Amino acid sequence: MDSERRQYRNGAVLVDGDRIAKVGRSAELVEEASSDVEMVDLRGRWLLPGLINTHVHTSQQFARGLGDDVSLLTWLHERIWPYESEMTEEDSAVSSLLCGLELIRGGVTCFAEPGGQHVNGMGQAVTELGIRGILARSTMDMGEGLPAKWNESTQEALDVQIANYERWHGRAEGRIRAWFGLRTIFNNSDALIVRTKELADKYDVGVHMHVAEIKEEVEFAQEGRGATTVAHLNNLGVLGSNFLAVHCVWMTDDEVQMFADNDVKVSHNPAAAMRVLGFAKIPEMIESGVCVTIGTDGAPSNNRMTLIDEMWLTSLIHKGRLLDPTAMPAQKILEMVTCDAARALLWEDEIGSIEIGKKADLVVIDPDTPTMLPMHDPIANMVTSMRSQNVESVMVDGRWLMLEREILVVNEAEILEESKARAAAIVQRAGIELPNRFKVVD
Ligand SMILES: [Zn+2]
Repeated sequence: MDSERRQYRNGAVLVDGDRIAKVGRSAELVEEASSDVEMVDLRGRWLLPGLINTHVHTSQQFARGLGDDVSLLTWLHERIWPYESEMTEEDSAVSSLLCGLELIRGGVTCFAEPGGQHVNGMGQAVTELGIRGILARSTMDMGEGLPAKWNESTQEALDVQIANYERWHGRAEGRIRAWFGLRTIFNNSDALIVRTKELADKYDVGVHMHVAEIKEEVEFAQEGRGATTVAHLNNLGVLGSNFLAVHCVWMTDDEVQMFADNDVKVSHNPAAAMRVLGFAKIPEMIESGVCVTIGTDGAPSNNRMTLIDEMWLTSLIHKGRLLDPTAMPAQKILEMVTCDAARALLWEDEIGSIEIGKKADLVVIDPDTPTMLPMHDPIANMVTSMRSQNVESVMVDGRWLMLEREILVVNEAEILEESKARAAAIVQRAGIELPNRFKVVD
């Protein structure tokens, strides 16, 4: 993923501390290496830059299975808002740990979180996991049906985010960055939107917002604010190169052009979109020069926090939508989850490719499974046949988080047990009722 997109057939990488010190042919690097260099033999494996998930709700991990086969309003009002409003900071930390384990097992070394309510819980989890993360808080200063405990003024919503920035930005040896979050135009006043962007500019970070997700949203914006979502954001003057817009399903061609003109970054979440949102014009955006990346969304919207599966879906659904098998080629999709994602997260000087001086965020792929062999066209295989199970080892900042499928940074078994108990307790506190799909025999 360097500027020339070189792939070494027999390559080697020298890691020094948290950075990549050399990249080249294996024979040459091995010969040059001093005797105290620790050698890791990856013969037969593939080494990729760490994958970057640009939209994942880590604090929704315990809500996996709470949102299946229901309308969006039921999803929000009867399932997810009650769930999120009953979460404690500790719940949020363990939920983020569980999500982080799934991310690491799927080759993700960096993610962007659009925001739950407890940034401290998420920050704690990122610190423990050794992964890289951009955190934000979900802000809402208006909207119908919100739980009472979330009532806050525009100023309060801004103050909490500034406090989060001051507490978390640059923490965990620089692996955490704090951004500003906007939930959706349904829940954000124009004042909050404009002032959030001003703060992000002032602190030199980004804004993460769900944009043009569903048809009702653009209709709501048209009626209440006088223009559809993206056109309205453009009128407010908040579109810019530090604006990460998620979903972006209901957009006109003119609005796509507004994104291109303002260098807005997009996170495409194909699984979540196919459920209730619709089909985003992703190939058209890329054609217009928009930087498009891929995210998983949250566990109650997708159920698989597996970026590798989203790569495959991104490859498939646009071919089907456009009846064009040449749409979304595999090499573009690999760029979307590495170098393009790094650019979208304003972090391309340090991550997104295997290059000298960049952070040692690396993923080892073992292709020797019945699901991935043979490797006639390896780049295509990475997108169309790879599974999380092919991810063998994951390194962030020069440290193995997972080695030969063993998680080294946290006690995985304990997190799984604690997750079961906490998730069940939240659902009980929130009074969420799920229908029995089949007759239960006790
Ligand atoms: Zn989302």
